[in-house]
Order: sequence, then C-alpha cells, then structure tokens
Amino acid sequence: MSGRRLIASVMPRSVAAALLGLLLAVCLLSGAAGAAERSARGELKRVLVLHSFGREFRPWSEYARSIKAGLEQQSRWPLDIQEHALLSARFNNPGPEAPFVDYLHSLYEGAPPDIVLSIGAPAARFVQRYRQTLFPDTPMVLTVVEQRLVNRLDLTDNDVVVSVHNDFMAVFDNILRVLPDTKTVAMVIGASPLEKFWIDEVKRELKPLGNRVSLTWYSDLAFDEVLKRAANLPPNTVLFWGLMSVDAAGIVYEGDIALRSLHAVANAPIFSYQEAFFGSTVGGPMQLTGETSRKTVDAVIRILGGEKPAGIKYETIEFGTPRYDWRELQRWSISESNLPPGSEIMFRDPGLWETYRWQLLLIAAVILVQTGLISVLLHERRRRQVAEVESLQRLAELAHANRYSTVGELTTSIAHELNQPLGSILTNAETAELMLKGASPDMDEIRQILGDIRRDDQRASEVIRRLRSVLKKTPFEIKNLKLNDTVREAIGLVAAVADGRRIALTYVPPSTDLHVKGDAVQLQQVVLNLIINAMDAVADADMRKREVSVATVRVGNRAEIKIADTGPGIASGDLANVFNPFFSTKPQGMGMGLAIAKTIVEAHHGTIEVENLPWGGAVFSIRLPITR
Ligand code: ADP
Repeated sequence: MSGRRLIASVMPRSVAAALLGLLLAVCLLSGAAGAAERSARGELKRVLVLHSFGREFRPWSEYARSIKAGLEQQSRWPLDIQEHALLSARFNNPGPEAPFVDYLHSLYEGAPPDIVLSIGAPAARFVQRYRQTLFPDTPMVLTVVEQRLVNRLDLTDNDVVVSVHNDFMAVFDNILRVLPDTKTVAMVIGASPLEKFWIDEVKRELKPLGNRVSLTWYSDLAFDEVLKRAANLPPNTVLFWGLMSVDAAGIVYEGDIALRSLHAVANAPIFSYQEAFFGSTVGGPMQLTGETSRKTVDAVIRILGGEKPAGIKYETIEFGTPRYDWRELQRWSISESNLPPGSEIMFRDPGLWETYRWQLLLIAAVILVQTGLISVLLHERRRRQVAEVESLQRLAELAHANRYSTVGELTTSIAHELNQPLGSILTNAETAELMLKGASPDMDEIRQILGDIRRDDQRASEVIRRLRSVLKKTPFEIKNLKLNDTVREAIGLVAAVADGRRIALTYVPPSTDLHVKGDAVQLQQVVLNLIINAMDAVADADMRKREVSVATVRVGNRAEIKIADTGPGIASGDLANVFNPFFSTKPQGMGMGLAIAKTIVEAHHGTIEVENLPWGGAVFSIRLPITR
C-alpha cells in the first residue's frame, strides 16, 4: 500500500492535501539549503599527485610538500589529494610499468581525478605515455621538469608545464669562485636511467672548463664505497652532489639519509644546486623550491577554476639568488669576500650579543650601577679620610691650647723647680770663686763644685726641654712609642709640683716594655691631665693621705695606664658626665681636660674609663692597643 493511499484512508482528503503541501515545502527548502551550502564550500576537487621516485625522495618530496601546502591554503574547494609514487623509475633497469598502470586504471576508471599533477621528469613521462589509457580528458600540470627533459611532442592543449633549468656551468663557476684552488670535483650521482642521462649532460655542459678541473665520477660505485672515498679525498677536492636515487649496487636511497651520511664523513665540502639539499651543502646559485611550487599552485588553482590549460604558460625557472650556509663557510674556511655580490648567508651563528642580549645588557647595567656605587663609596671614603685628618688637626690644636692652660697651672712649681738648680749654681759658683782667691786652692774640691754646677745646669735645661716639648705645637703624628718612656716624661713634668704640694706621686713601670702606636706629646698630655686632676682631688686630704699612684701594666693585648688617687672620688651622679665637655665641679675649672683626654685616647683606638675605689678615691684607666 502506498503512503498516499494510507493517508487517504485515515483522514479527510483536504487535510491530506494540506499535509502533503507542507511536506513538499520542507523538502524543497532543505534541498535549497544543501545546494547553497555546497556552492559556498564548492565541489570536492580530486587531485592526483604522481611522484617520480618515492614520496619522501628529495628534492621532489620538498617540492611536493610545498605545493600541497600552497594548494590547501589557496583552494576555494575542498581537496582530495591522492598521491602515488612511480617506483619503477628508480630501478637501474626499469621494470614493467603495466601492473602500476592497471592499478591506476582500476582506481580511476569512470571517476577520473579533476587534475593530474606530476612531479619530476619520470612522472611527467609516465602520465604523458599513459594519458589515453588512464585519464584521456583530465588536465595535467607537469611540474619540476628540467627543460631538457620536457617531452614536447606529446604535449596537448590540456597540459601546463612548469619547467626548470639546471645550469651546471653556474654551479661549477661558483665552486671555482669560492674555492679557487679546487683541482678535482668528485661527482656523486646514482645509477638510475635519469641519473645516467644527467651524467652525459653534465659532461657535455662542462666541456668549456677544459683542464681547469678534473671530474671523478662515482656513479659506478656502491654508496658505501663512495662514503669511504669521500672520507679520504686529497686536498683541493670538493664533492658535487647530483642525485642518489639508487646506487650502482641497486640500493635505493629515500629521504636525505645518503646525503647526511656523506656530509658526516666527507673530508671536503659538498656542493649542489637544489635548495632541498641546502643544510648539508656549502651553497651557491640553486633551484629554489618556492618559485616552482608557487607557479604550480597557480596553474592548478586556475585550471580547477575552469581556465583552459593551453592559456597558462610559464617561463623556465632559473637558479635563484646564490645562498650559502654560514656553518659550512666556517667549517671549510671559505672567506665571505669570495662570495658573489648580493649572496644570502643563512644559518649565521647569532653570536654572543644576539643570543644573550638581555643577559649582557643586565650584566652591563649591574656593572655600571656597581661602578657608580664604588665611586660614590670611594668618594665618601676620601671625604671621611679628609674629615678625619681635619678633626685630628682640630684635636691637636685644642690639645695644644689645653696644654697651655695645664702648664699655666704648673707655672709656680716650674719656677720653683728652675730656681732650685739656678740657686745651687750661683752658690757653687761663688764658693769656687772664693776658693780660687786663696793661696793654694784645693783643686779637687773645685773640680767637684764644677761637677755640681754642670749637673744643676743639666737639671734646669731638662725642665725647660720638657716644657718645650709639651708646649710645642705639632700636628697629630703617629709613631712607635715605648709607653713607659711617655708616662715617665709626663711624671717628670709634675714631680716637682707634687713635691711642692706634699703629695706622694709614685710610679710603677711595667715589667717589660710596652709598645704602642701614637703621638707622644698628646699621650703625655692625657697622663698629665689625669695626674693634675688627681693632685687637685687630694689637695684637701689629710697630709698623710695625699697619694697619687701611676702604674703601667699589660692586660691581654692592651697596655693599661692606671692613675689612682686618695681623694674623695667622683659623686656617683657625675661618673657618667666627667668626660663631657665643659663639665667641671671646680670654681675655676674649664671642664675640657677629660673631654680632650677621651678624644685623644679614642683617636689612638683606645678607651678611657673611671671608677671609684672601694677605699675612697678615683681611678682612671686608659687602655691602648699594643703593637708588638
Ligand atoms: P676641670 O679639671 O677643668 O674641671 P676636667 O675635665 O679635667 O675639667 O675634669 C672634669 C671634672 O671631673 C672635674 O671638675 C671633677 O669634678 C671631676 N674629676 C676629674 N678627676 C677627678 C678625680 N681624680 N677625683 C675626683 N673628681 C675628678
């Protein structure tokens, strides 16, 4: 029972008609949408690609890759690219082609491809030969065919040829230009019929070179033997890489294994003329893949778009701009000045600067900042040194002024100390005069008196010498000192004063010499100040308790001068202040003595401290670093 009858039997005629109309409309609409979609995407186009040797056989594999990529990119239609390889072409003795023809025939019978694309001369020959059997009406693009191998007789209006020209003379000119000492070129080429054709062609084409270079042909060798020879070539020999589809031993080489093996062992540079081999070869003028594939893609797209193949013509493609592999130039010490002008150099090692630009910039910046910092620090150090020298200078001046005032306090005692020897000198001189007036003067006695006079004079000049030395205005001057001598000198200056004031001033020297680095006059001044302060402190004490004792001892690696007295000591509240400038508890005091003493000691990298003694009195301790 038909569907129409079924509908008619279960519902009224008018309803069935309405439903049928709706169904029809839906069908029409969906049909229109499918057509619109197809025309937007275009019809599927079938492209048959025929390779000459194998799908991975260089250089054609590189052309095929680039052409397919171009087609995928530019085609307005979805593409079905079907690839086949004409394996028979690479046999030394071409085998029967019939089975392959049958295979293609059965594949495409009744459904021929939209276009046939042959890559390389053997494939071009094949499609031309079997056109009638396989695809009588299909347009063909015969690409990457050396112009000498184009079979023009069998070309039809349905064919487009993209031909190339291998200019062997240009290749050899290049070899002799970049390596002018070349004497021999070892020719690496296989043994297929195509390769044999090229051997004859190259020989013919290079005839004008005459004896300039000799050619050694490796076409009769198994490739293993080629490798052995290439590893031991004599000097001034280069290798020329033609093709290696199959060697004399019948071994087939796909991909670029053969060339890579040769490159690995050869002791001479390799030259070629195909971009596909660039990377293992030195370079020069060469056939560039890009130009040929661009033209091929252009032809295919135009034909698929409906253009007549007869109207599509291209000039034969010549070698492109010479290009060289920088790594090979380095390896074989080929000077860039030998290259033709306008050549391109590829794979140049970017060098340190290009590779590590940011790191280098960073390091340079760090060094710059560091240099800046160092110079600022050096400048600061210099300023500090100048400031230190200046402050020592000020200290020397201040200390000098302080010494004047200290010595001023001692004036009376000093006058007394001078008067004593001067008085004795006078008395002794008068006595001697009287004795000389006598009839028989006792010469021994007189000699003794003169001895006394000399001693007294020396005592007086010693007092003056000490005074001079303590009062002289000297810059801060560091010398190696024996601390004992320095302390003794200071005590010498005040001994008479102590005597006059009935103070017992004692000195306990160190058991061995203590050496310090310092300014003798300034250290004396410190000791002098402390002794005078101590003598001031004991001034009001009981006669029997007026004692000032000085001692110099070694404490570890420091020399210590201790000045102790039997005075009242320092009020505990003042202990922290006595070294402050202008701190004084004396009515006439300036309060600078201890401040200056502390500054001097610290300029000597030493310390000064004070404490009260348990049995009364104060003790000042100065510690200075011992030098040896
Ligand atoms: P000045 O002697 O002019 O007062 P100094 O700086 O030499 O200045 O002394 C500061 C103060 O430290 C003194 O006024 C005194 O009060 C106290 N002083 C210093 N040495 C002693 C000491 N041996 N015993 C007690 N007090 C001291």
